[in-house]
Amino acid sequence: MDEPLSLAGDELRRLGYRVVDLVADHLAGLRDEPPVRTGERAALEALLREPVPEGPGDVDAALDLLVDEVLANMQHGDHPRFFARVPSPSNGVAALGDALAAGFNVISASWAGGSGPAVLELVVLDWLRELCGLPDGTEGIFLSGGSVSALTALAVARTERGGDTAYVSDQTHASNVRALRVLGVPHIRVLESDAAFRLRPEVVREAIAEDRRAGRRPFCVVATAGTTNTGAVDPLGELADLCAAEKLWLHVDGAYGAPAALTARGRALLAGAERADSLSLDPHKWLFQPYEAGCLLVRRPAALQRTFAMAPEYLRDVLGDEVNFRDRGPQLTRGARAIKLWLSFKAFGVAAVRAGIERGMALAERAQAALEAAGGWEIVTPAQLAIVTFRREGDDARNQALVEAAVADGYAAPSSTGLRGRTGLRLCTINPRTTGAEIDETVARLSSLARAG
Ligand SMILES: *Cc1c(COP(=O)(O)O)cnc(C)c1O
Repeated sequence: MDEPLSLAGDELRRLGYRVVDLVADHLAGLRDEPPVRTGERAALEALLREPVPEGPGDVDAALDLLVDEVLANMQHGDHPRFFARVPSPSNGVAALGDALAAGFNVISASWAGGSGPAVLELVVLDWLRELCGLPDGTEGIFLSGGSVSALTALAVARTERGGDTAYVSDQTHASNVRALRVLGVPHIRVLESDAAFRLRPEVVREAIAEDRRAGRRPFCVVATAGTTNTGAVDPLGELADLCAAEKLWLHVDGAYGAPAALTARGRALLAGAERADSLSLDPHKWLFQPYEAGCLLVRRPAALQRTFAMAPEYLRDVLGDEVNFRDRGPQLTRGARAIKLWLSFKAFGVAAVRAGIERGMALAERAQAALEAAGGWEIVTPAQLAIVTFRREGDDARNQALVEAAVADGYAAPSSTGLRGRTGLRLCTINPRTTGAEIDETVARLSSLARAG
């Protein structure tokens, strides 16, 4: 008798090899495809909607349908000419790590449930801590991404400091404001950034004083180490001084930019990030991991546990040097996102990761130089942390139309962004597999679309 819900004989092996081939072929051929393809809902529904399958079906045909119709209609964040929003220049080895984790159905919730995965997670967290310059003793956890990291960090900030008022800038990623709202923080102060899109410590200081006079209780400042919009870095050292003087929690949102700290240049730009009470970073962005992988580091030992520990009888197990990640964050059952990052570091070494990050910054500088050489473009914010923003003379609609025309052209995908109320174009060049020639050609095509439009 065959086992329930299992394939007969060597069928799993055959399908598994086929899946590996599909992935390897996809990655090898990515450059020849457009970076984004968006389907029509009605057409996709016509292909996919059907009654729940009652009996067994043809898995090969199902895989074909997935690859040809489902996976074909999406953005490829790992495409070398995907420059929109924040790319996810993943790597194949990490995908194998994810596959292995799924295949072994790894759980990293409790010590008893997964001591091996728990220690691996501790090791990788400590690597990231060291690379970002935080002190020994800092604790952390892998989460789904920057949004859940923000929610986790700000919940801890509130438990540790107590209070009702938090500060963000008008460039802070919206996920932080959402997290504060979800946490029920009554006063969320959105402060105006300066001409370089940075949060000014004086502005924060004044707002704190004003709030204290009004009887509010400030507890947290959210600073950004690399804004999603322009790559701007808030003055982290000064904000750390201010938070220390005012006894506020400093959360540094490094979801986008924190990995730049692996490079000498990035470390200088991000100086002060290592003084954060909590620092978030997204390995699924600039650490070349597939979705999902976020990470939160918290300087104060046991602060995560004070917010998140739960100890009903049925979950209690032996205490000691055992780590239960369920007590460090909002998830009980959780997978092992550290595995893919660990495998990538083991396969390539951190020097290759560092070089990849360095290259992303250089590519944005090359794009800026090409835009300046082409003429007709205003550089709105110069290349910083691998992001350059620019616009064409004319109204917002024209700039928006340019982005859409570029994406429709299918060669490269820039995105649009709002900068001081004006629409501009934006390239985020963190994919180390992007060639210089591809940057030049992207700029050449944008220039010819602009001349034609
Ligand atoms: C992407 C991003 C986030 C949100 O991260 P998700 O992984 O998309 O949830 C938060 N902050 C910054 C600065 C980001 O770039």
